Amino acid sequence: MPSHEEEDKPCRACTDFKTWAKQQKPKKITISPPNEPSLQKRKDCPLDKNELGRSTWGFLHSMASYYPEKPTTSQSQDMAKFFNIFAQFYPCEPCALDFQEDIKKHPPKTKSREELAKWLCERHNTVNVKLGKPVFDCSKVHERWLDGWSDGSCD
Ligand SMILES: Cc1cc2nc3c(=O)[nH]c(=O)nc-3n(C[C@H](O)[C@H](O)[C@H](O)COP(=O)(O)OP(=O)(O)OC[C@H]3O[C@@H](n4cnc5c(N)ncnc54)[C@H](O)[C@@H]3O)c2cc1C
Repeated sequence: MPSHEEEDKPCRACTDFKTWAKQQKPKKITISPPNEPSLQKRKDCPLDKNELGRSTWGFLHSMASYYPEKPTTSQSQDMAKFFNIFAQFYPCEPCALDFQEDIKKHPPKTKSREELAKWLCERHNTVNVKLGKPVFDCSKVHERWLDGWSDGSCD
């Protein structure tokens, strides 16, 4: 995978928005007239590392929660392939390299929905620990991504 450094362009998907913005060439400063709301960041900009991560985890956990309870052999093999290919092409290169190492040590478990959802929750927790974020209780993964919280707050 070509690195963004080779392309001489900072990698927006590898950094948070504030750091990325600081790396850009100085821009003209626009001062908003009094009483005019200051300019907001547009909603249709390329994703930074955190936005990309949040959206990707949402997709991956949803996919695991909707995966068949009893997949066929072929579905099970395809899902394992999916994660290996995903790890090669995830657009944040440092994140992808660590994820490749992690799934080498802990290969995808794809024999059932339960197994896949738990495996993925554990992979996400590995990243959470690396970043100093709280560890998620994997017994609640289907409440978070499939059924909604048991107190009915998502209904
Ligand atoms: C494969 C991958 C690798 C990444 N590697 C890096 C990296 O090396 N460095 C880096 O800075 N960022 C990395 N990220 C991004 C990082 O994981 C976060 O997405 C980002 O920091 C934003 O975090 P957040 O606090 O919004 O919540 P996120 O971690 O994005 O989580 C989103 C939501 O998922 C739920 N959740 C949290 N933990 C779990 C879990 N274990 N199981 C199920 N649900 C859970 C919570 O409700 C949370 O609000 C990576 C993302 C991915 C997809």
